Amino acid sequence: MVRRHQTPNRLCLPPDLAPLSDSFFLPVSDTFTTKLARGASKGRYAFISLGCPKNTVDSERMLGLLRLDGYEMVDDPRKADFAVVNTCGFIEAARQESFAAIDEMLDLKRRGKLRGVIVSGCLAERQREALLESRPQIDHLVGVFGREQVTKVADRLLGGLEEQRMVFNPAPTHPLPDTARMRITPRHFAFLKISEGCDRLCTFCAIPKMRGKHYTKPMEEVITEARELAADGVRELVIVAQDTTYYGLDLYGEPRLATLLRELERVEGLDWIRLMYFYPMYVSDELIDTIVASKRIVPYIDMPLQHINDRMLRRMQRRVNRAETEELLRRLRNRVPNLVLRTTAIVGFPGETDEEFDELCDFVAEQRFERLGVFTYSFEPDTPAARLSEQVPEDVMNDRRDRLMEVQQQVAFEWNENQVGNQVDVLIDAAEPAQEGVWIGRSYADAPDVDGVVYVTGENLRIGAIVPCEIVATSGYDLAAAAIGEPR
Ligand code: SF4
Repeated sequence: MVRRHQTPNRLCLPPDLAPLSDSFFLPVSDTFTTKLARGASKGRYAFISLGCPKNTVDSERMLGLLRLDGYEMVDDPRKADFAVVNTCGFIEAARQESFAAIDEMLDLKRRGKLRGVIVSGCLAERQREALLESRPQIDHLVGVFGREQVTKVADRLLGGLEEQRMVFNPAPTHPLPDTARMRITPRHFAFLKISEGCDRLCTFCAIPKMRGKHYTKPMEEVITEARELAADGVRELVIVAQDTTYYGLDLYGEPRLATLLRELERVEGLDWIRLMYFYPMYVSDELIDTIVASKRIVPYIDMPLQHINDRMLRRMQRRVNRAETEELLRRLRNRVPNLVLRTTAIVGFPGETDEEFDELCDFVAEQRFERLGVFTYSFEPDTPAARLSEQVPEDVMNDRRDRLMEVQQQVAFEWNENQVGNQVDVLIDAAEPAQEGVWIGRSYADAPDVDGVVYVTGENLRIGAIVPCEIVATSGYDLAAAAIGEPR
């Protein structure tokens, strides 16, 4: 995903660093998120950020480093000296998007509009040799854990050192700092990465190969980052990691997400704390009680389940079975009032039979997840699943995806219809460009980028405000609401 933002952002500096010159930000031009900063400049660059929220945090850190080092970001790559493409390499579709962005920048270089192209992130990490072989015009490759050296690479590029450079560091045993970010999300929400890597061994997933083993970011560092973000105007903190429930296990010898959340609850200035990427293991009663007791943790959980058939779960090496999953869902539904559950499913995993797929459809219909993302299995040559027999043909996978989405669509639309007449707080993200007086926001039930939105009308609305609303209508996956109180 290419991040697109129309709202101002700013450098999020640690409290002990004085702000640099003012910066202002332009709407996205062409396809890329860009930002123009004023002030003395070592050189001008365009930045393309692709992929998941974890990658967004990496992008923001690199942007912060470049900014602090005196580089200036421009909205139009044709006005830049160089471009940085922070790539995603998770599945084939994401790789294709990354290749397209790289090729677009290389084309500008070929036409003399850019002096160089730096490629960073997961795709660089995963396909370093192949990438250089297929695209030898790339000037520098920076792996996931080389991101701290992005300014040195830029210095070399603009200093005229022709030699192609690869910066690949082994996964550090201590997660890299995510402070001093120049954020590309709207000012009022931010992603907070609490750990790096993953110790699970899901057979379809290449992430541990790219991001290494799980390393917990020490609690005091997470809290420092959260304070920095809150001081910068963040009202909604979105907690991310490859697997947030694993937090603490490697560092403290036991899962500590509940403890971390109780500490985050005390950070001044935050209104909403949103939990993403639960693994259906280590969801303890203590963790559930912490969510229920909190005034700031919203009753929204993103918990990718991927499948429900026991044979599929074993082949995926998910280490949970159907009965355990259902028991966990019962516990969550019974104990967390107004819970909104988001999950994802993979269809067409090798060997998935019609009956196993039907079981997944029935499960989705029964569980009535408020949010569901459906993905077709992506063949990843360097994962164990690629060696499994009975790969499912693409047309069958696509058909299953469409059928499962149809099941879910009915559930989601009905849920939306049941919201009409309810009162709910909405956080305003942007003005609706196509309709004056209409604003685009999200309630606690909507995570940024992946869920629907709430269109709001009312007086004195502004970006970043939280406004009490009444839901008045639905439109597919989205809602319409009228403000019924003062924005705050
Ligand atoms: S939990 Fe499984 S799917 Fe998620 S990042 Fe880890 S290995 Fe990949």
